[in-house]
Amino acid sequence: MLECDKCGFKGENQLFPLVNKRLTCCGPEVHKCPNCDTTVMLDFIEQQKQNEERAKKLTILVKELESKKEYTQVKKILQELSNINKCSIHNEELSKFIKNEHSFIKNAQSITASF
Ligand SMILES: [Zn+2]
Repeated sequence: MLECDKCGFKGENQLFPLVNKRLTCCGPEVHKCPNCDTTVMLDFIEQQKQNEERAKKLTILVKELESKKEYTQVKKILQELSNINKCSIHNEELSKFIKNEHSFIKNAQSITASF
């Protein structure tokens, strides 16, 4: 749910066209009011909620890709997760998860390399 500060137009996020996906790696999405064209930012709490959802999906994806041994992909996702965690959600569990996954991949890759 978004609301325009200028004209008071309120509605679902989809009603507000996206101007800029993100200002920073996980900063607020920039939308535009469909009524008066004023810039409307996604609210901080909502943004954080979205980042948490995204982090959850990414951790599931990490496990999936890991089982397929797609380690290069996994590394990219871990990088993104660590960015989200550093500048938005600051979750202790998540940083542990990232650390564990990094060492898991390192081991898995050295085992593969020795064959
Ligand atoms: Zn407006």
